[in-house]
Amino acid sequence: TETSTHSVIEQTTQYGANNYHPLPVVISEAKGVWVKNPEGQTYMDMLSAYSAVNQGHRHPKIIQALQEQAGKVTLTSRAFHNDQLGPFYEKVSDLTSKDMILPMNTGSEAVETAVKSARRWAYDVKGVAGNKAEIIACEGNFHGRTMTAVSLSSEAENQRGFGPMLPGIKLVPYGDIEALKAAITPNTAAFLLEPIQGEAGINIPPEGFLKQAAQVCAEQNVLFIADEIQAGLGRSGKTFACDWEDVEPDMYILGKALGGGVFPISCVAANKDILGVFNPGSHGSTFGGNPLASAVSVAALEVLEEEQLAERSLKLGTYFQKKLKAIESSVVKEVRGRGLFVGVELDVPARPYCEQLKEEGLLCKETHETVIRFAPPLVISEEDLDWAIEKIEKVLAQK
Ligand code: PLP
Repeated sequence: TETSTHSVIEQTTQYGANNYHPLPVVISEAKGVWVKNPEGQTYMDMLSAYSAVNQGHRHPKIIQALQEQAGKVTLTSRAFHNDQLGPFYEKVSDLTSKDMILPMNTGSEAVETAVKSARRWAYDVKGVAGNKAEIIACEGNFHGRTMTAVSLSSEAENQRGFGPMLPGIKLVPYGDIEALKAAITPNTAAFLLEPIQGEAGINIPPEGFLKQAAQVCAEQNVLFIADEIQAGLGRSGKTFACDWEDVEPDMYILGKALGGGVFPISCVAANKDILGVFNPGSHGSTFGGNPLASAVSVAALEVLEEEQLAERSLKLGTYFQKKLKAIESSVVKEVRGRGLFVGVELDVPARPYCEQLKEEGLLCKETHETVIRFAPPLVISEEDLDWAIEKIEKVLAQK
């Protein structure tokens, strides 16, 4: 049978669990910032798979690394060493200035790893009494979909029907330093946050918050853990979103663009005094640190550096935000962002505007009802960005 947008959507809807609400567009090919449907129509991708495709779709260097490694060995498990994991460790260590790395596959698993590290550190290093360790997270956070991640969530719908939740979690309002101070007890293992909240609608913490929070954590012997899965790796216009306040977290959680949109890989990075709490048998993953993912990730990180994608995001993002702010629209409440990580908050539901933008050939997705997130691949050109601005203006300026 012939593949068409209609047939694909029908098949997907017939057999698939209903846990997503995609725009009615099928992508069957992609290159750089552009994607194509089965009928050959092209669209600009302004979501980048939730910032996993920062390097652009099918970046030639990353695809080459994938193909070369696929011709050698793809999976060994961690029962044996593989020759690609060491170079990956060294690359991430250089990037983060941390001396220990633990590789996993998805973002949620890396968050899981961070919480396990923090708890074990609390018992083995800090001296918290058994089963008493607490993790402080922020209201509005998104750390993934595993039980730990949804236990951290403040969204009722993320938890509904999935109880009981993991105990030992406290939430504080995002950006509220006094609330953080008040929540810390001698049992606090870690403060976990997104340095910019992505899924919550591109929320930037108040100026100085990251620095103050890191300082409070240091004073109270609490780990400061940054979930940089979406905001990191160039997206916000710096290598890490924490760099906006020159803050070095005790632990980085990385994912998404770590695999260049080509292969899933995630990790946590911290110093030995923290990640050293793991011993053989205490944690792991069959696919974590596999040679294919490792080779792809090294290439993906090299592309970020060689093409200066963080700097590019900052420059083009500043330009893009300025142009967006200049659009006269009766529905736009606020334009906010850092680099090419931009949220346009509307007074009305955002979904119909995303659908109209799709009709104009531009793919983006609403987040939190009223926010349109614009996060194109960081390899986007200024010309392509101008094309996008024209379409966005056409859709937002009406009415
Ligand atoms: N943490 C943050 C900040 C995210 O944005 C996401 C995904 O959107 C995750 C964690 C979960 O990552 P994954 O979907 O790869 O499990």
